[in-house]
Amino acid sequence: MKVIHTIADLKNYLLKERQNKKSVGFVPTMGALHAGHLSLVHACTKENDICVVSIFVNPTQFNDPRDLETYPRTLNKDLALLEPAGCDYVFVPRVEEMYPEPDTRVFDFGTIAEVMEGAHRPGHFNGVAQIVSKLFTFVEPDDAYFGEKDFQQIAIIRAMVRQLQMNVRIHACPILREPDGLAMSSRNVRLSDEQRQKAPLIARTLKESINFVPGKKVQEVIDFVVTTLNEEPVMRVEYFEIVDGYSLESVRDWSESDYIVGCITVYCGEVRLIDNMTYKR
Ligand code: AMP
Repeated sequence: MKVIHTIADLKNYLLKERQNKKSVGFVPTMGALHAGHLSLVHACTKENDICVVSIFVNPTQFNDPRDLETYPRTLNKDLALLEPAGCDYVFVPRVEEMYPEPDTRVFDFGTIAEVMEGAHRPGHFNGVAQIVSKLFTFVEPDDAYFGEKDFQQIAIIRAMVRQLQMNVRIHACPILREPDGLAMSSRNVRLSDEQRQKAPLIARTLKESINFVPGKKVQEVIDFVVTTLNEEPVMRVEYFEIVDGYSLESVRDWSESDYIVGCITVYCGEVRLIDNMTYKR
């Protein structure tokens, strides 16, 4: 496994691989890796000759400076996890390498970037599109792997690939969870012991809400989830929306779409956790 820091080296290595007719798969990450990330790496190594993972805490997608400051960074541990997972190249650029000058590009993805995370984290998806478009340009992957935990992000990436007419297949991989149901996240390490103990309530409530659906209106399910979680003193629901899985527009009736997903963001203390649950597919 080679650890690469510059775009020039990355391009050189991958050019050689491509000359040898190797297919290239890519997993972009911000590091602090866990089994959720590794599941993407496994999908990538299974379906491609070469697996490239990037580790870069992208400043342009953080709307909260404190979140950027406290984002966990565990490079040595990350590298130790990636090697046995079959990763071939790890790209770990410095901020100046990716942004030698400010990226002034403004993307317009319409509604899918304006709802949910888009509404609560201004500029977040623009930053995601900035960094992922740069990474795709440098890596030129045949396939790229993203986690469904960041459900809205996948819709953004797909829209970006269409807009920029990039030749990369986007794969959505299922959410990996801790044994108690909590969606794995790099931010989970920031939970206090008490918060960590309470956090599985999010996934548990989403799961319970599936059993609650029969005979209920969409709004009743929303109220059930929000009320249950807000009753727990350490939790505060930022939003819970039940949306069409393609357009990300809210649905009012279960018959409105054949693909319906509930997306939630909850503050557990100071830590912002996201999760989602598919109601219909
Ligand atoms: P991040 O490092 O948080 O930017 O995540 C990098 C990639 O890993 C993104 O595509 C995430 O959606 C994905 N990912 C993060 N957590 C999980 C998880 N629990 N299960 C599956 N994929 C995940």
